[in-house]
Parts: sequence; structure tokens; C-alpha cells
Amino acid sequence: MAKIAKLCVKRDLCIGAASCIAVSPNVFALDGENKAVMTKKSGVSTSDTTNVAELVADGTSDDELLLAAQSCPTKAIFLYDETGKQAYPES
Ligand code: SF4
Repeated sequence: MAKIAKLCVKRDLCIGAASCIAVSPNVFALDGENKAVMTKKSGVSTSDTTNVAELVADGTSDDELLLAAQSCPTKAIFLYDETGKQAYPES
């Protein structure tokens, strides 16, 4: 798989199952609405499309991000490569 450059959580799909947090607790957390968010170096937590480089956990491996996305029962986590192509879920 190509290198993962960006990711997002589709909040309408997220059911707060927290599997992603079990796999990758440094990247994902649940917000007050029980939706997964990612913490940025700026201090902002967001579900919107975010560059991996902007994350507090910017050193997280592609394998871990992929495992987290694959662990999501509703496939709410979307991964994109450097060209912006969707890498997961495979479309
Ligand atoms: S595993 Fe999926 S449904 Fe569960 S909190 Fe993470 S993004 Fe949401």
C-alpha cells in the first residue's frame, strides 16, 4: 500500500465502538458526542481530513493506521495517500 498521508473519520458512520482507540490510542480519542477524533499538534481535535504530519502522534506507522481503520466495524476511518487517492477502504 502507498504511504498514508492523510486520514479522516466520517462522523456519520462512527458509532463510538472505540476499536480504533484500542489499536491506536495515541491517534484516536472519543469526543463528547462519542465520535472518534484525532488530536493535532495545534491542540485541536478533529474528525476532518488531517495530514498525518499535523498529528501529535505524527510518528505513527502506516501499519498501525491501517490496522486501526480495519478494526472499525463501520469502516468510518478513511486513509489517503500522498496523491489524495483513497487507500482505505478500498473503493
Ligand atoms: S472504531 Fe470506528 S466506529 Fe469505533 S470509534 Fe473508531 S471510528 Fe468510530
